Formats: sequence, structure tokens, C-alpha cells
Amino acid sequence: MILPIRKYGDPVLRQRGRRIETITDEIRQLAADMLETMQAAHGVGLAAQQIGRPILLTVIDVRPSEQPSTMDVDGTTVDVAAQMPLVWVNPELQNPEGEQIGVEGCLSIPEVSAQVKRAATVEVEAQTLEGKRRRFRCGGLLARVAQHEVDHLHGVLFIDRIEAAARAAFAGPLKRLSRETQAALKKSRARK
Ligand code: ZN
Repeated sequence: MILPIRKYGDPVLRQRGRRIETITDEIRQLAADMLETMQAAHGVGLAAQQIGRPILLTVIDVRPSEQPSTMDVDGTTVDVAAQMPLVWVNPELQNPEGEQIGVEGCLSIPEVSAQVKRAATVEVEAQTLEGKRRRFRCGGLLARVAQHEVDHLHGVLFIDRIEAAARAAFAGPLKRLSRETQAALKKSRARK
């Protein structure tokens, strides 16, 4: 099922995700719905906050992008495309190394994109939907997406990480989007 994507101005995007203690059928279904939602929106990643659930769950699929990615799983280099899509439960970022600068956007902040400085490689320790704990070493685009999504899980957005001057340029569109989102939320609450 395709779920509505929460937009900038929705307070859920600023909530820190709760740890998932047990991977239930409900969590598996949610992950499947998040994958479908991400693919329909042509995104490369989606965090649970973006569909209104503040829990530590994210899905990633870098295949729609032509930017290169690298990945090791538990120390073994793997073919990235063959491992997609990824579902990470309770992911933790570790050992950021190096630096990369690239353009980022976000399904929750349409029409805004900006250069963001990120680590060139990161390690992610996460559980799979089968409950297995794995260590993913990510490089290139995958490292960027991993950092963007884990930020979401802690209530952080990419616009928090851009230079102040660039952020000032987006102040108008962000304010407008936030106002629209809050008006839509108020309307949907009034209907209930
Ligand atoms: Zn995002």
C-alpha cells in the first residue's frame, strides 16, 4: 500500500525514532508499504518518520540513481544492486571517514535541493527484517543515503546540515511549505 509522505512542517519529522524491540508482522508490513511508497515516489530512501511513524526503521534502494555506490556486508564486498532494496531495523552509524559533497533532496521537502557535506564512507550496524545483526560498510551514494536516512530517524533533516547562506535562500519556500503542511494537518484533524 502506498502511504502518504509527511511533508516539512509536520512535527513527526522532528521526532526521534523509538527502538524496535520485536520485529512483528506489523513491522514487516510497514517495511513493505514503505518500499512501495519510496518506489512510487522515485526515491532512493525513506525513513519511518516520513510516513508518520517515529520508529527506527528505514528502507533504501539506490538503483534508480546512476551515482556509484559500494558496499561490504560483514567484511565481504558485495554487488550493490543485487543487495537492493535494503530494510534496516535499529540502524546505528559508526566510523565515518573522509568527505564527499553532493546535491541532496528529500521526499518530505519537495522543490528544495542543496549541496550537503557528508562522510565518504560509513559503517551501519543494523538488523535485517529476519532479525539478523549485520555490519554494512557503505561508500559513494549509498553512504550519503545512509547518513540522510539515519538523520531522519533522529529528527534531523538535510536542510539542518547546509551552509547558513544556502539555508537563507530556501527560507521563503520552506516557510510556505511548512504553512501548507500545518494547514493540511489542521484540516485533517478537524475532519476526524
Ligand atoms: Zn529525506
